[in-house]
Amino acid sequence: MPGMIRLAEHAAHHVEDLIGKHDIDCGYERTGNVFAAVSRGQLGRVRRVAKLLRRAGGDVELGTTESLGIPHGFVGGMRENVGGIMNPGLFTAGVRRTLLGTPAQVFERTKVTGVARDRGQAVITTFGGEVRANKVVLATNAYAGEWDITPPRLSVPIWVIEVETEPIDPARLAALGWTSRSGLVTQHNIMENYRLTPRDTIVFGVRRLERGRTYPLPAKKPDPALVEELAQAFARRFPALSDVALDRAWGGWIAITSSWLPIAGQLDESTYYSIACNGHGLAQAPYVGSLIADLIVDGEPHEDLAALWVKKAGFPRPMMMGPLGLRTIWAVDRFNDFVNGSRRNALRGQRRSARAQPGSPRR
Ligand SMILES: Cc1cc2nc3c(=O)[nH]c(=O)nc-3n(C[C@H](O)[C@H](O)[C@H](O)COP(=O)(O)OP(=O)(O)OC[C@H]3O[C@@H](n4cnc5c(N)ncnc54)[C@H](O)[C@@H]3O)c2cc1C
Repeated sequence: MPGMIRLAEHAAHHVEDLIGKHDIDCGYERTGNVFAAVSRGQLGRVRRVAKLLRRAGGDVELGTTESLGIPHGFVGGMRENVGGIMNPGLFTAGVRRTLLGTPAQVFERTKVTGVARDRGQAVITTFGGEVRANKVVLATNAYAGEWDITPPRLSVPIWVIEVETEPIDPARLAALGWTSRSGLVTQHNIMENYRLTPRDTIVFGVRRLERGRTYPLPAKKPDPALVEELAQAFARRFPALSDVALDRAWGGWIAITSSWLPIAGQLDESTYYSIACNGHGLAQAPYVGSLIADLIVDGEPHEDLAALWVKKAGFPRPMMMGPLGLRTIWAVDRFNDFVNGSRRNALRGQRRSARAQPGSPRR
């Protein structure tokens, strides 16, 4: 656990350095991210997580809605002070521009159809030809299962979506109490996440996971029913913005491991892999990539690599990752939302009737 916390925090610092060093304009704001609770039950869970993270050396703070500067629709939470929010597309475009400015040879839009070993070298096959290399790093995330060389069950491909609101009047955004601008992640089994953008919109998503069953992974569009479900969740978390419309929705494949932790390792003397950051790879994937590059050049593994290094590739069947398992996890979250919603309504009703009784104390 301490190793994983260190890795996550160092990954955030690595990406901040990358942004600064190469002047990448991706709207990065060092706001930290808040595990935001939507109910007392979730608050209890946050407190337990905070205790574990603190014990492992994590830079976290527990707080109320007000002290954390998060919207009134949440009941408190815990901020991870390291890291923040950014536009991932602009970040990736900036890294690409930087890479193209180096002597590295980059082959874009070139699908690798196979990776094999031959006389101590890796042989990478494409539709247009072959490349032989002394060292190869497999880093195709959810798509890794398309190759025979990838160990079975290393990860499962999962489709997740995000949506973005139309621009919102800045005065209405200011009234939310979201003064910290921290990214928000709810404590459902399958999270909802919310972040502000410099365009005065709110980007949010996930809530339901869809399992990819066959390779090659299909091109997909967001399910309109899930977009509608996310819109309803948004209206519940941000009641003052319930009239705000959604502008767009998009999605992509991520890789989930059976432990829900990132993994990397070495298949043989020439083949390394860094795959599956479980939906947290924006900072972790570039950092782990740089550590593997250092390992290849120096031969010495950085201590952060040890936290996620798989010594012997053999992976258990992931639990609850079939369509039925994922549906069950979703249903548990919805049941808890329903119970918490009913409890909140009952409390409001009790307060209303107490106020309506003559002589009853006002709170
Ligand atoms: C909707 C959505 C929201 C997300 N939100 C967050 C977030 O808030 N925070 C966070 O940290 N992470 C988030 N993630 C996850 C994050 O994007 C990933 O963890 C991260 O991109 C992983 O980086 P990667 O380089 O390992 O893999 P990817 O970014 O998936 O890149 C894999 C690359 O491999 C290429 N490829 C695949 N097959 C082949 C082949 N055969 N030959 C050649 N190239 C190939 C693909 O084209 C792709 O460019 C989100 C992901 C999605 C989809």
